Amino acid sequence: MASIHRLSDLLVNQIAAGEVVERPASVLKEVLENAVDAGSRAIEVQLEQGGVRRIRVTDDGCGIAREELALALERHATSKIASLDDLERVGTMGFRGEALAAIAAVTRTTITSRAEGAGHAWRIDGDTGELSPAALNQGTVIDVADLYYNTPARRKFLKSEATEYAHCDEMFRRIALAHPEIGLQLSHNGRVSHRLPPSEPIRRVGALMGDDFLEHAREVRADGGILALAGFASMPAYSRSSRDAQYFFVNGRYVRDKLLTHAVRQAYTDILHGSRHPAYVLFLQLDPAGVDVNVHPAKIEVRFRDARAVHQFVFHAVSRALAESGATRSADTES
Ligand code: ADP
Ligand code: MG
Repeated sequence: MASIHRLSDLLVNQIAAGEVVERPASVLKEVLENAVDAGSRAIEVQLEQGGVRRIRVTDDGCGIAREELALALERHATSKIASLDDLERVGTMGFRGEALAAIAAVTRTTITSRAEGAGHAWRIDGDTGELSPAALNQGTVIDVADLYYNTPARRKFLKSEATEYAHCDEMFRRIALAHPEIGLQLSHNGRVSHRLPPSEPIRRVGALMGDDFLEHAREVRADGGILALAGFASMPAYSRSSRDAQYFFVNGRYVRDKLLTHAVRQAYTDILHGSRHPAYVLFLQLDPAGVDVNVHPAKIEVRFRDARAVHQFVFHAVSRALAESGATRSADTES
C-alpha cells in the first residue's frame, strides 16, 4: 500500500461533487437556491443541451463583492451561517458552503457579479481563479459549462439531452412553486419554456400545475400555532396513475419525505383507490428548530423533532379540506 497523503483541494472537491452534482438538474438546484438566498426579484435560467453543455443563471440579487468572489468558490465558505446556533435555525436554502466548490471542480465555471454599491462588476474564472472587471447591473451571473468535462467516468452516467432537460424543468418547477414572489424564466437551446411573472401563490400554482388541477382541488389551510399547512390537494376525480404531481415543501424547501407522503395518502384512504395517486402542492411552515435539514448535502430529506405531531397535523389538515362540502376552489382568472 502507498503511504498516507493529503488529497489536493481539487480532488477533494471532485469527490464531494459526487454527492452534490449528480446531474445538470442538481447544479441548477444549487445555483437557483443561491439566487433565491441572494434576495433576487427576477431570475433567468438559460440551458443548453439539457444543461450538460451550459447552465447560466442570471439574478438581480445582492451580488458578491470582489474580495469575496474567490471565497464563494471555496469549500466550506459561506455567508449564511457562522455558528451551530445559526445552523439550528437556518432560514436560507444553503448553508454548507460547498455547492459552488463542487460544481466548479467538475465544470468550467465563471461567476460575474456586481455587489450593491460597487462601481462595476467583477468576473472570476473558476479554473484559474483569475479576476477581471466586467459589465453587469447589480446581481450575479453564474455560468456553468461542460459538466464533467474532466471526469469522463461520471459523464457516462448522464442520460439523453431530453431526459436531463426534463429533470432541469422539474427542478425549476419546484423552485418556482416555492417562490411565486420571484419572476422566473427558463429557456432551453434558445427557446423560452417558462415565463413566470411574480404573482400570487394561487396563480403560480395554476401556471405550473394547470388550471384544471386548481378546478379539481380543495384549498388546504390550517394553522396550528407552531405548525401551519397551506396549499391545494386534488379531489379524487383528478387523481393520477403516478406520483408525478406531488409537491411538498417544508419552510420553502421541496422535500421528499415518507412521513409526509404517508400522512397525505392516509387522508385519501376512503376516497381514492390504492392504485391512484392524488396531486397536491402543500407548504408546511414550522419553527426551523423543529426540523433538521442537514441530513444530506442535497437537503431533500428532513428529520422532524416531533414526527408524530407533524404527521397528525398534516393528516387532519388534508382530511378536513377534502371533507369540506361546497364548491371546489378554482383559479380566479379575473382581477
Ligand atoms: P452556500 O449556499 O451553502 O453558502 P455555495 O457554495 O452555494 O454555498 O455558495 C457560497 C457563497 O457564495 C454563498 O454563501 C454566497 O455568499 C455566495 N453566492 C453564491 N451564489 C450567489 C448569488 N447568486 N448571489 C449572491 N451571492 C452568492
Ligand atoms: Mg448554495
